[in-house]
Amino acid sequence: MGFLSNLFGGGDSSASAAPQYTHIKIHPSVDNGIPAGSANFAGGTLKCKCSSNPVVVEVSAQTAHNHVCGCTKCWKPAGAVFSQIAVVGRDNVTVTENADKLAIVDEAAAIQRHACKDCGVHMYGRIENTGHPFHGLDFVHTELSSASGWSAPEFAAFVSSIIESGVAPERMGDIRARLKELGLEPYDCLSPPLMDAIATHVAKTSGALK
Ligand SMILES: [Zn+2]
Ligand SMILES: [Zn+2]
Repeated sequence: MGFLSNLFGGGDSSASAAPQYTHIKIHPSVDNGIPAGSANFAGGTLKCKCSSNPVVVEVSAQTAHNHVCGCTKCWKPAGAVFSQIAVVGRDNVTVTENADKLAIVDEAAAIQRHACKDCGVHMYGRIENTGHPFHGLDFVHTELSSASGWSAPEFAAFVSSIIESGVAPERMGDIRARLKELGLEPYDCLSPPLMDAIATHVAKTSGALK
């Protein structure tokens, strides 16, 4: 019984055991469990961390593909190993206050991250290259909103890249175990649906797919 149930991951008492890796911190939005998104949620207000004259961005739709990201480019709060980021249509993103405080972090990057010059928070990432597979989608950090109901993080992207930020490689086993415990499947690129979307775009552009 033990061997087979372990092999197929069901039926064993260990499947319902208490989480064992809660001491491994990923990001404040997921460390204490992940709140479910709300089906009727229609967006909210993102604010940077400035105590006066914050940059304010209105997002007028529910986000999608919310995930934690281990890349070195995404903004993350102090002390976090991962960022937490989602996409939304660019037409649903409007800077409503203190737009003059925003500057693009890296003009040459595929995703142009518009950051507050004073506190450093990235308010939205935008793709201007119309040939890019994700053109039309902006990247936003829903943790900058006080509203609840945003789409829940679903997976972990670019997990191995946290080593580039200085995380010791020996810690990767525990970190991947914690991600799985949270239900955030760890990937070292993007999730399969997003990788498939990129490949489909490339194949349609080349003519390999009609
Ligand atoms: Zn700011
Ligand atoms: Zn990232």
